[in-house]
Amino acid sequence: MNNIRVLKFGGTSMGDENTWRKVLDIAAGYQQPVIVVSATSNTTRQLLAAGEEALNDLDKALETSQNIRSRHEVLIERFLDQFDSNTTGSRQQCQDWIEKKIDELEKHLHKINEQVEFSDQRKDAVASIGEQLSSGLLSICGKVYGLETTFIDARDIIKTDSDFGQANPDTERIDQQSRRIRAKVEKGEIPVLGGYYGENSDGQITTLGFEGSDYTASLVGAALDSEAIEIWTDVSGIFTCDPRLVEDAVSIPEISFREATEMAYFGARVLHPSTLKPAAEKRIPVYVRNIFEPDHPGTKIYATADSNGPVRALTFLENVIILTVNAPSTLMGYHFLSNVFATLERHHITVDVVTTTEASVSIAMERPDKLDLITRELEDIGEVTSTERQGLISLIGFGLSNVDAITSRVFSSIKGDPLSLISFSRDKRNLNLILPENHLVETVRSIHHSLFTKEFSTKP
Ligand code: ADP
Ligand code: MG
Repeated sequence: MNNIRVLKFGGTSMGDENTWRKVLDIAAGYQQPVIVVSATSNTTRQLLAAGEEALNDLDKALETSQNIRSRHEVLIERFLDQFDSNTTGSRQQCQDWIEKKIDELEKHLHKINEQVEFSDQRKDAVASIGEQLSSGLLSICGKVYGLETTFIDARDIIKTDSDFGQANPDTERIDQQSRRIRAKVEKGEIPVLGGYYGENSDGQITTLGFEGSDYTASLVGAALDSEAIEIWTDVSGIFTCDPRLVEDAVSIPEISFREATEMAYFGARVLHPSTLKPAAEKRIPVYVRNIFEPDHPGTKIYATADSNGPVRALTFLENVIILTVNAPSTLMGYHFLSNVFATLERHHITVDVVTTTEASVSIAMERPDKLDLITRELEDIGEVTSTERQGLISLIGFGLSNVDAITSRVFSSIKGDPLSLISFSRDKRNLNLILPENHLVETVRSIHHSLFTKEFSTKP
């Protein structure tokens, strides 16, 4: 056992000189912190935009790249201006790092323009520059602040397969490589590494997918057998529903790994869906906390969690589509179903909700990019109808003692007659509702109100 805590700071935490200061204030309060950072806010989006622009307008792409450069230069200037000590050397180090990374970016932009191709492999290399910039710069700035921060290139730690855009970690190699982090911690240093990216066995940069920095923190935390992983963000924990949409949502003190994973999977943007797997396997608690309210305990995610209400949380997802496939009379039910699912499997489609009759199956999923192709393939199996612009609402973690009371509250708070599909599992303690997107927000608020705001008896 050790006192290592992996602290992950997201895009908003890396936003400006004030939040950088908060990040370092927080790290300074720990005995053996390891810092994982995202890119500064908006940078990943800008990097990918530059890559797309380079396909047909190199000048525009280079302009975007210069904008990324100057945003980082301004941030560093302002950060270092807060210190009275002589920061000339650190300014130069930061400047050199920015120069180096922007240079790499522009080489990619020229290549994209020459080849008129922005491959998945190159996308990962370009996208990772945001985290390379932020981690390198924060490690320099941390020293000026007075901490023994030291840069570690995530490529040396996060070894993955070659599934660009959503690479899968090689946990055995990550375990081995993490010794480098441990060695630094034992010397009293504070390693700083960029989240989201890693490297395949050919030495090419890969990324772990959207919100992948959370995943990096969890992989590193598990590899180091850390005592905890802390995801620092701009809200005080995981809320009963997205606080941006539902004003009376409240922070959940404790939630299980399984429930939090379900939340991420069913649309709660607060965590990467794979984040909790490495932590859960090693039973390392994960906390979600707020850099703007550092005294708030936030949410503890662990194997078991005390329940304090009828339902743990409510999540929602937009841009859902329902495909209904009707079986031809010539095909037996089980062949029909297996053909439908084989088609989805070929396209790596994850299905959110399924209902079947003996002669049809309705499948709800986030609208896939290759919808036309998938629809055509399903048409070879049976007649297909699609219903677009649907929303999915999921109730996570039902209290088992009062399922009837909860469901009756839920259904009486849905106004009109909008439901398209429903699935419920008592075992999984989860209820999914699909309804047209234009009813989504109003229904989410109304269900949330009926379950979390009104007094709710937990007695059956
Ligand atoms: P970071 O940049 O730190 O990774 P994110 O934007 O990825 O931050 O995640 C934090 C945001 O997640 C919050 O600002 C909030 O709007 C959103 N969010 C969505 N659902 C929830 C929820 N159930 N609880 C807390 N935050 C949520
Ligand atoms: Mg995030």
